[in-house]
Amino acid sequence: MRLGCIADDFTGATDLANNLVRAGMRCVLTNGVLSSGVLSSGEPSNRVPELNHASDRFDTADIDAIVVALKSRTIAASDAIAQSLAALAWLKERGAQQIYFKICSTFDSTDQGNIGPVTEALMDAVGSDFAIACPAFPENKRTIFKGYLFAGDGLLNESGMQNHPLTPMSDANLVRVLQRQSRRKVGLIDYSVVARGAAAIRQRVAQLRTDGYGLAIVDAISNDDLMQLGQALADMPIVTAGSGVAIGLPQNFGLAPSAQAALLPASPGRRAIVSGSCSLATLAQVAAYRDGGEPSFQIDAADLLDGHAGDGKRSAHSEQQRIQALVSKALAWYHGQPQHSAPLFYSSAAADQVRSVQQQLGVAKAGYLIEQVLANIALALVRSGVRQLLVAGGETSGAVVQTLAVQQLRIGPQIDPGVPWCATQIEASAGQWLQLALKSGNFGSTDFFQKAWSVKTLTVYS
Ligand code: ADP
Repeated sequence: MRLGCIADDFTGATDLANNLVRAGMRCVLTNGVLSSGVLSSGEPSNRVPELNHASDRFDTADIDAIVVALKSRTIAASDAIAQSLAALAWLKERGAQQIYFKICSTFDSTDQGNIGPVTEALMDAVGSDFAIACPAFPENKRTIFKGYLFAGDGLLNESGMQNHPLTPMSDANLVRVLQRQSRRKVGLIDYSVVARGAAAIRQRVAQLRTDGYGLAIVDAISNDDLMQLGQALADMPIVTAGSGVAIGLPQNFGLAPSAQAALLPASPGRRAIVSGSCSLATLAQVAAYRDGGEPSFQIDAADLLDGHAGDGKRSAHSEQQRIQALVSKALAWYHGQPQHSAPLFYSSAAADQVRSVQQQLGVAKAGYLIEQVLANIALALVRSGVRQLLVAGGETSGAVVQTLAVQQLRIGPQIDPGVPWCATQIEASAGQWLQLALKSGNFGSTDFFQKAWSVKTLTVYS
């Protein structure tokens, strides 16, 4: 194990792992940290005994990187520090030679943290006096020039991020942003240095250290810049960055891009898709799949409304019954579909339909109930032999991962940017694997659902 990564949210963790795999590292993602072989942070209370989850121990001999997924982006800085230090200790025990703190490519944070406080706590823990911070991800249009972060063609604070409900970003100057949340002096490694390559970056780091700086934002506008930066970071104990910088690190360990890193264990069984995303890209993907003649089952959110008319009150008991009734109906339909097909279950609906359901149930309640239906369909599918499952929607994916009590994901080949196939072991004794792809709402081309099946079969080993 060479690189230990701590990601401040779950989809950020898959994004990072995807970039590491594409750059040649065999990678495992864990949902929280493991302690004495078992997940401690976020240990699922609803563990599913009949799925007989694999041993939580894994052999790090054939792994180059571990990504620990936390949910620490917007929690109190002291909690984020505590969780990150626990992850650091766990990764160090497993031999991590370098630590990567994965942050958001739009530098999501407030004056209280958590990028500065966590970075400095990690530095203190490993005895390091200097670290860089660089959220650049040019492939996804996140570039930094003179310390200013651009999201797309405009500055961060004009990109919509200034209105983010939890971490509004109203200042695009990352040196200032990071300084407000850090004890150490924050400097800049600007583009005139980065353009001259790895040696120049190293020289600038030495100068900043001499001048009393403990942190520095780094400019980068292309993948070439990230490759040079990667080389310069070979001896840096802590790297704070978005997923982009990860493409330049595997070379330091003698690893080059290789299809081998993306191999996943075979998982023979049936295939299915579960979609709760109502994003435009997903709606187009659902329509394309259905119109292509593939079997599809629409979950009608209105079925969850019955009994809500009037005072809007309903007991938890009848809610559960209604969810189970929907799950049973979906499963009965599924068992009538051809074995070789990959049926789609979707609640995905256009904005006006979603609004009407939300008006009657409330936004949070509607989201929660539909997530429960989809997650329970996913669980029932896996119990009845599905071994390749595609999930569309960020929150929906979270609910599915939680309900399946997934603890570790092995990262495989990319379907589309930001979405890899993954695998999780579900039957330790029988060596059974479930392959999962978790798609964020707006990711993926229109034929994403069809494409996913062909990508995987090319690269899987048995
Ligand atoms: P995305 O990644 O596209 O944002 P998410 O899964 O994160 O997708 O969020 C979609 C949310 O919408 C989920 O909470 C889901 O339960 C909810 N939802 C899905 N279908 C419907 C629907 N027909 N009506 C109302 N809410 C829905």
